[in-house]
Amino acid sequence: MQEKMGTILVVEDEEPVRGLIRLYLEKEGFRVVTAVDGEEALHKVTGSCPDLILLDIMLPKMDGLAVCREIRKQNSVPIIMLTARGEEFDRVLGLEMGADDYITKPFSPREMVARVKAVLRRVNLTEERKNTQVIAWPGLVIDNSAKQVEMNGQVVPMPPKEFDLLWFFARHPGQVFTREQLLRQVWEYDYLGDPRTVDTHVKRLREKLSAHTGRRYIKTVWGRGYKFEVGS
Ligand code: CA
Repeated sequence: MQEKMGTILVVEDEEPVRGLIRLYLEKEGFRVVTAVDGEEALHKVTGSCPDLILLDIMLPKMDGLAVCREIRKQNSVPIIMLTARGEEFDRVLGLEMGADDYITKPFSPREMVARVKAVLRRVNLTEERKNTQVIAWPGLVIDNSAKQVEMNGQVVPMPPKEFDLLWFFARHPGQVFTREQLLRQVWEYDYLGDPRTVDTHVKRLREKLSAHTGRRYIKTVWGRGYKFEVGS
């Protein structure tokens, strides 16, 4: 296997089901680690650092819900619960305990593989977004690690708070923020700041943006606040 697909921990006491899941996941290139009860599952979580856990609810010693709750105390690894048909209660409880998804038994192996991949994709996207350090919009590139802004290919110097404000806006396109919200998020003031500070910074940002790109990225939403929009 060229591509690293990741490690899946399969927690299931029924051998045939466990074997089937292993077979299909390995066929897709995943590394599979198994556990037959809740206690073993908790050991394997720390021991083998899985990328995702398939966790059956009906388990000896410690049921899947309790295992899920234990894992969540210190680990955000994605968990898909395996529930029996009609166990509505378990399903809801599983999601409350911090499971990311559930699969109802009996399931088709193909569906199971698709769900595993979908959850992994979702988690990876969220991680990428959280860690992203560069945002690019037409005519505008913002690099948070270098604290640098390029407008139409030209580096434009910017004071720290202006930069922070632009970075915040660019990460939340289309969302309206009140001046108070911006003060809290960007200046980290708790109601103490002067909302006019925001207006002043927005004004300067707009001047720079329009001078270098001819675009108006930050829109005023009357009676509400501001939003960042990439349009005309
Ligand atoms: Ca079981």
